[in-house]
Amino acid sequence: MSEEINIAIVGGGIVGCWLALELSKTENDIFLFEKNTGIMQGENQSSRNSGVNHAGLNYDLNTRPLKARLCVEGNRLWEDFCQKNSLPLIRVGKLMVALSEAEDRELDKYLSRSIEYVVPGVRKISGDQVREFESNVVARSALLVPTSGIFEPTSLLRQVYFQASNQGVQFMAGTEVEELKSSGGMAMVKIRYRDGVTEWIAPRTVINSAGVHAVRLAGMIDGDFPLKAALIRGDSMKFYRSARPELHLNGMNVYPTPQTVATPFGLQHTVGVHLTPMFDFRNGQHVIGNTFMVGPKLIPVNREDDFQTPMPDPEVFVKDTRFFPQLKASDLSPNFSGVQARLDGYPDFYINRDRICNNLIHLVGIDSPGFTSAPAIARHVAKTFFLDGKG
Ligand SMILES: Cc1cc2nc3c(=O)[nH]c(=O)nc-3n(C[C@H](O)[C@H](O)[C@H](O)COP(=O)(O)OP(=O)(O)OC[C@H]3O[C@@H](n4cnc5c(N)ncnc54)[C@H](O)[C@@H]3O)c2cc1C
Repeated sequence: MSEEINIAIVGGGIVGCWLALELSKTENDIFLFEKNTGIMQGENQSSRNSGVNHAGLNYDLNTRPLKARLCVEGNRLWEDFCQKNSLPLIRVGKLMVALSEAEDRELDKYLSRSIEYVVPGVRKISGDQVREFESNVVARSALLVPTSGIFEPTSLLRQVYFQASNQGVQFMAGTEVEELKSSGGMAMVKIRYRDGVTEWIAPRTVINSAGVHAVRLAGMIDGDFPLKAALIRGDSMKFYRSARPELHLNGMNVYPTPQTVATPFGLQHTVGVHLTPMFDFRNGQHVIGNTFMVGPKLIPVNREDDFQTPMPDPEVFVKDTRFFPQLKASDLSPNFSGVQARLDGYPDFYINRDRICNNLIHLVGIDSPGFTSAPAIARHVAKTFFLDGKG
């Protein structure tokens, strides 16, 4: 490989792929390095998530401005992209349900937010109206959020990857970025190819979008990198909505009122254990299937690849979904687990230039709603660092 390449993107999850596609509109000579053997294989967040195109109500503009802004924008960008490319994304709508008076008051906060953030069509409905949408869901009241959707993550990822490849991006799968170092204030990258051969390259710009590994990579250059990972694993179960009449759901996302939970890393905001319809593939088409996901239940973990710590007991999922009272532990079977790139004490996405190397841009803490936000993250990076802030 030429030692002087223009842009090196580290990580071929949905964020790296969107960055590749977006930057290829104005830049040449872009290489993306992915340590997994393929772009759609592996234990990354982009292949292990709930598949919800979040409407964007959950993120406080004061404490999480990037999440708030980029999620709302990303939701719309995905809808357009999927419509244009006939990809599996369905606007199923969401019920955010309140069970108590306190939660009912909390919903009003999210309703005002929907106006401020311009999330269209959100309205508050009564418990009786909830049952018109989902007859087996019990609630005191709910917010109806029409722009919440579901997508099939790997189909979307594949399309972004194909389009970026067609625009000339070089995808180097099976190639790990083993080390970063500073040379006179410029980041250099040591790559290890599939055959074990290693090489140092000096790209004009390096983008660290390595998901759960991004903090570790940042620490290779800056020993005092200001953020620490607080890895959280999300575990989910599934059930068959046709197993018993009381389990029938029409196909909406059903969420509790968002919660703040205590973790070893302090209080963390969570959207809560929710019900999300999953896709089936029938007659050549993705349709809402017969299976519903319940989760994710969040468990703090110490390693990026901790899939060994046992999942919580099914009873825990049942307890967390009191708005769906007919669900029993015996209805549930394990679905998937995915480790999220959360940060300790920093609730927002962190998208900044490195403090030591001016040619290095970090995308750190891209946890949920990172899939929804990915196209908007890519635009934000292009605008901030390449179009307006070139250099
Ligand atoms: C359980 C769970 C549920 C979620 N639900 C949702 C949801 O419903 N909606 C939503 O919007 N978001 C959701 N998310 C969040 C979303 O999946 C992530 O924010 C998003 O996928 C992050 O994409 P990424 O490209 O930054 O990271 P990743 O997908 O993790 O990709 C990073 C890539 O970098 C590669 N890499 C790492 N280190 C190196 C290296 N040294 N050299 C080369 N390659 C490297 C990795 O192999 C990986 O492929 C969920 C996440 C989880 C875990």
